[in-house]
Order: sequence, then structure tokens, then C-alpha cells
Amino acid sequence: MIQKDIKSMELPELKAELEQLGETLPFRAAQIYEWLHKKLCGSFDEMTNIPISLRERCKERFSLCTLQEVECLTSALDGTCKYLFRLPDGNVIESVLMRYHHGNSVCISSQVGCRMGCRFCASTLGGLVRNLAASEMLEQVYQIQKLSGERVSNVVVMGMGEPFDNYDNLVRFLRMLCDGSGLNISGRNVTVSTCGITPRIRQFAQEDFTVNLALSLHAPNDVDRQKIMPIAKLYPLAQVMEALGEYYGRKGRRPTFEYSLIAGENDSLAQAGELARLLKGKNCLVNLIPVNEVKERDYKRSCTKNIQNFKNILEKNRINVTIRREMGSDINAACGQLRKSYMEGR
Ligand code: SAH
Repeated sequence: MIQKDIKSMELPELKAELEQLGETLPFRAAQIYEWLHKKLCGSFDEMTNIPISLRERCKERFSLCTLQEVECLTSALDGTCKYLFRLPDGNVIESVLMRYHHGNSVCISSQVGCRMGCRFCASTLGGLVRNLAASEMLEQVYQIQKLSGERVSNVVVMGMGEPFDNYDNLVRFLRMLCDGSGLNISGRNVTVSTCGITPRIRQFAQEDFTVNLALSLHAPNDVDRQKIMPIAKLYPLAQVMEALGEYYGRKGRRPTFEYSLIAGENDSLAQAGELARLLKGKNCLVNLIPVNEVKERDYKRSCTKNIQNFKNILEKNRINVTIRREMGSDINAACGQLRKSYMEGR
């Protein structure tokens, strides 16, 4: 019999499953859910208020997903920790803990590998291996909270993978992450980043919960965008912007645009002006990211002067803009780099 993944089950599903196991007491599901998602326990034997006979039945019927820490690199500069985790099937993924004064933020992966093919990104070099289950996304947050001994207050889905290419599991993960019976993280403190899969942005707007949505823009027009992001050929910018408008129209927050600056590709003054025209009058935030150089790619980061000039043009047009503070630059904290070096070393 194939064991069902208990950590991916929402409370009503867990209740129904336990009924099938012959459990008649309705509060058992809530107790087990609390062990899994609040007390973050790693085995059925730790569930001391659950009768041993039920624990045994659970062990037979369910798998209990836990991630193994393979490696943890800590930045001497800012305390950022980058974790390499092994999944139950042997694949490895990476997650990052960033410490800010407003709290601890965890950046999680949503897939093993990625099939979006962005030219500057290390995560996509080996293609997509598989989607992560909701339990495997939750476990990244749970393990980091346990290993660091510190509460996680913010979660960003900006690690390896394209979250909207794993939509159903992503939505399940988000609901469980924000559930009051679990870690109870506020949707205000959760951000999903997408390369711009239009139909999924529209679908996301219809969901009954709200988190922040960031768009990886990286260029102000389709021609330039298609050169660095193959997905842009499928979803033209005008459609992506319209879908994003729909999302924020319904949810009432302000969108973030990520823009990784690559020397000679997307960092000219003309492109800054075009970006300003694209975003003019929109209440939004532009996050400029000096591109992290990946050795398999020949893209170089923009020089400090160009980054500053680019920022100035946006500001002159009254667009909110920040330059992303680099975290963990001494530990290869950029997407996919640690996993890649681990795989090469094997
Ligand atoms: N697939 C999602 C989320 C993962 S990447 C997305 O595309 O948004 C998170 C952000 O890091 C994205 O904006 C991505 O374009 C950016 N990124 C990836 N590789 C990078 C690199 N080498 N340097 C700078 N930013 C990078």
C-alpha cells in the first residue's frame, strides 16, 4: 500500500483519513495536526497524548515527511544561513534563513530544479527534476525554526523553482503555513515571486487568502525580456501586467517588481526611462538586484555607478525603489548555487 503524506493534509482531510482508520474521537485530528504543524514533531512516537494503537495505525497508513540537513553555511558578514536539505527520495534542495531587525525571514524552494530557463539563474541549469509537495515546502520552514531555535516570522517563496509551475501544492502550502492551528504566519509576511505565468496569476487572485506577490520583471519591454527570460515569449508583458493589476485590484496591496541588473543587458539609462514609463502612476515598489554572477553564464553585474543612475531615474519619476541589500554574499546564497556545487562534488 502506498503511504499517504500526512504532513500535506489540511485539517478536514486529516479528520476524514482518521475516520477511515476507525478513529471515532473527532478531536484526535486536531491533536495530531498540532503535533505536526505547531510542535513540529518528527515522528509519531513523539505524540504522547495519542494512544499507542492509533500511532501504530498511523505509521502503517501515513508517511511523515522530514528533511535531513546536509550542510549549513553561515555568513560571517550578516549571519545569513544557507541550508542544503535532503528530501525523502534523496534529492537535495536549498533554503535560506535571513536575519533582519524586523524578524527572521526564510526563503524556500518550490521545486527541485526549474524549467523556466532564465538565462542568469543557476537553479534552472539542470532543468526540472520534480515538484515539491506541500509537506516538503513546510518542512523547510519547520526545520529552520528547529535548527536555529529562533521563530520564523516571514517566508518568501524565492528559492529554487517557479512556484506557479507547482500551483496546487503551493496553494496548499500557503494555506497551511498561515493556518491558526499551525505556525500561523500572517499573509502580510509571506511573498510569492513569479516569473509571470499569466493564467496562474489570475487564478491566484481568486483564492480566498492573501499574500504578497512579486513579479520578476528584469526588463521593461518584451524584446529585452525575451532575451533573458524564455517564458516571456509565452506571456507578453502587457498580459502579465494586466493580470497583476487584477490581483492587486482584488487584494488591495502594492506589487513588487524584481529587477536584476545585468551589465549591458538591461541596465541602460534608456531602459530605466522605459521602466519608469511602464510603472508610472502605479503604486508599486521596484527592487533592484545587482545580478549574482553564475560561473556557467557570462552575465556580469552592473557597476555601482550604473545601478545608482538607474535608481535615480526611477526616483525622479516618483517610483519607490530599493537596491536589495546583499545577504550572505560570502556563502553563495544566490538561488541554486549551493545545490549545484554539491551535485558537482559528488
Ligand atoms: N521563479 C520565481 C522565484 C525564484 S527566483 C521567479 O522567477 O520569480 C527569485 C528571484 O531571484 C527572481 O526574481 C529571479 O529572477 C532572481 N534571480 C535568479 N537568479 C539570479 C541571479 N543569478 N542574480 C540575481 N537574481 C537572480
